[in-house]
Amino acid sequence: MKKNSITFNKKIYYIIVWIIIAIMISGLLIDNPRFGESGVVYISHSILVFILSVCLLLYPKNGTDILRLTIIIVASVYFYALFLFYPETWSTFIFLCFIPALSILFFDSRLFYFSLLLNAILITIIFGYIMLIDRGLQYPYIEEDLIGNFINFIASQIIIYFIFYLTNGRIKKQQIYYEQIQHSERLKTTGQLAAAVAHEIRNPLTVVKGFLQLFEQDSSFSDERKGHFTLMIDELNTAEQVISQFLSIAKPDKENVTENVDVNTVLQSVTDLLHSYGLLHDNRIELKVTGDCTISANTIEFKQLLINIIKNAIEASTIGDLVLVTAGREKGFVVIQVIDHGRGMSEAEVASLGTPFYSLKSKGTGLGMMICFNIVEKFKGTIDIHSSIGHGTTVTIRFPFSNPS
Ligand code: ADP
Ligand code: MG
Repeated sequence: MKKNSITFNKKIYYIIVWIIIAIMISGLLIDNPRFGESGVVYISHSILVFILSVCLLLYPKNGTDILRLTIIIVASVYFYALFLFYPETWSTFIFLCFIPALSILFFDSRLFYFSLLLNAILITIIFGYIMLIDRGLQYPYIEEDLIGNFINFIASQIIIYFIFYLTNGRIKKQQIYYEQIQHSERLKTTGQLAAAVAHEIRNPLTVVKGFLQLFEQDSSFSDERKGHFTLMIDELNTAEQVISQFLSIAKPDKENVTENVDVNTVLQSVTDLLHSYGLLHDNRIELKVTGDCTISANTIEFKQLLINIIKNAIEASTIGDLVLVTAGREKGFVVIQVIDHGRGMSEAEVASLGTPFYSLKSKGTGLGMMICFNIVEKFKGTIDIHSSIGHGTTVTIRFPFSNPS
């Protein structure tokens, strides 16, 4: 878990800390059996109250790992000191049981386990001392039922662990959710900004490309020069392709009507279209559709989704590999699978899919999967990617079945 990520209301913190300090001081001054003895016990107690107070007051300004650790150690020493200094006050034993609970407040799992371990070691020493040296002289209430008290102590540690486990799980979930929201907000803003910039760039590009095409045909230029112009036009085409793909994400919704789409027909036309692309590397595309597969989507966008995914599958395949495309009904859903036996992806690569401009291809745009995720989400579908390096990839797309009648 990330530390320092949980912020708290400082005003409330200070009010509570001052109340704690007041309680500690009153314990020192009001009816204290060691008061007036001016011995080591009273001075040590005062010093511990002072150090713990300073640490607690410093924490909001300097919330470092070291300070957190110091607070836990000082608090442990403080409560054990109370137990040893005031054996007649039996309730100090309760505090010993609850020391690890303090570290839950810092939302730091390592610190919690440290505190739990430290407490177990210290209580074992204390019980050992009572059993072998004290023998009920100062701690009769513990010595009378040593085993019972020890079991109670263990039970209290388990309860604290349980509270920690539940709190920690919930905080972790909240943390992930919060990070996801931040991430998508960032993507949304950068996406909108980039779309605006892309749109502005497209016009000058068209002008430059137009002139280059003119020069390319102009006989006054040498063949070598014309070769350069062709190269420049090619590069501009690539740039245009990236921009068009990018802008297709930012298109206003009203252009894209939602209609009943027959998956079988679309898959047939897409696989026909990509057939020749597959033949470049001797890859065959095999299509298997079973049952009536109608979904509610926009035909053009649905085609774009399938083209991107099947193209990726072909590009990942080695020469001669088969790309299998299946579609069928599963409960209330239409399930489409694109299966390749190509290079596959690692877990980290799969996790990066959909990130703008993430591409491992020399001529890739890194926008294909991002567009796919957008389209799938828009028509209330889901997309799952299973991949293993060297074995291939299976992309599973699910859309709710739509009754054609
Ligand atoms: P592009 O195809 O332009 O590179 P995409 O967003 O379509 O962009 O894909 C991003 C990257 O994901 C690809 O560069 C490729 O490395 C990886 N990828 C996508 N599909 C597959 C697949 N079926 N097998 C292996 N890698 C894939
Ligand atoms: Mg692609």
